[in-house]
Amino acid sequence: MAGRSVLVTGGARGIGRGIAAAFLRAGDRVMIADVTVPADWNYELASAGELQATQAELAELGEVDAVGLDVTDSESCQQAVAKTIERFGGIDVLANNAGVVDSGPLDAFPEESWDRIFDVNVKGIYLMTRAALDALRASDDAAVVITASIAGKRGSANLSAYCASKFAAVGLTQSLAQEFAPDGIRVNALCPGIVGTAMWHDHLMANQGEEAFEARMQELIPLGRPQTADDMGEAAVYLASARNVSGIALAVAGGLEMH
Ligand code: NAD
Repeated sequence: MAGRSVLVTGGARGIGRGIAAAFLRAGDRVMIADVTVPADWNYELASAGELQATQAELAELGEVDAVGLDVTDSESCQQAVAKTIERFGGIDVLANNAGVVDSGPLDAFPEESWDRIFDVNVKGIYLMTRAALDALRASDDAAVVITASIAGKRGSANLSAYCASKFAAVGLTQSLAQEFAPDGIRVNALCPGIVGTAMWHDHLMANQGEEAFEARMQELIPLGRPQTADDMGEAAVYLASARNVSGIALAVAGGLEMH
């Protein structure tokens, strides 16, 4: 199955970078797509420099290119898809991984944050998948992998917008798995547990340091460690390759979430 063309959103860093690296190691060609224009958010998103640097580093693993992308902008999604097709001749795997988090009690939660979370985490999947659909239909080995979360399986206090968006991502996964099955396109969700990316270090456990993070995760997670971006890459390649698996939401969470 090697040699597929793979488009990974939010691919400049964190879990997206791990997904990109895993597909490259599997012998696939990868387009990493991420924001290149600074966005106003409660922690820094990726940058043009970070996207370029990641592309250069991943090039050691295989054929990789990069494109600027805002998943909330329909035209930008179409351009990223067009660039991938131009570069690699088609799209076999779409990894809808871009996402943002914000937290806080509902009564103090800004409406703009609510909207932004749903724009990126939910509408972004719709816009990207719609843009890539013709190319996926043209592939004889097509798969969509959606990065949802264990937050899409169980709610948490002070994370209502994020959890609701991830439940929506799982709902989208199941619906699209049914809808695209006649086209032979498999659609699955990857549900990471806790990975020490910007989401944790710059927001959820900001300023608490790596040691405090590791100690907290050792305590919390049955298998005794946080998950890694490589764990997510391994699972994403599995989900994109398993020929008779569609519509599932696979927790990769060290036993923290078992459903
Ligand atoms: P991250 O912030 O490092 O990565 C998210 C990426 O998405 C960034 O590169 C960011 O620039 C990009 N992005 C944000 N808005 C975008 C937009 N409008 N258009 C294009 N790209 C955009 O964090 P991460 O943890 O690697 O997150 C990746 C995915 O994993 C997200 O969907 C997140 O919700 C999910 N997730 C993370 C964890 C965790 O513990 N870190 C757990 C479960 C699920």
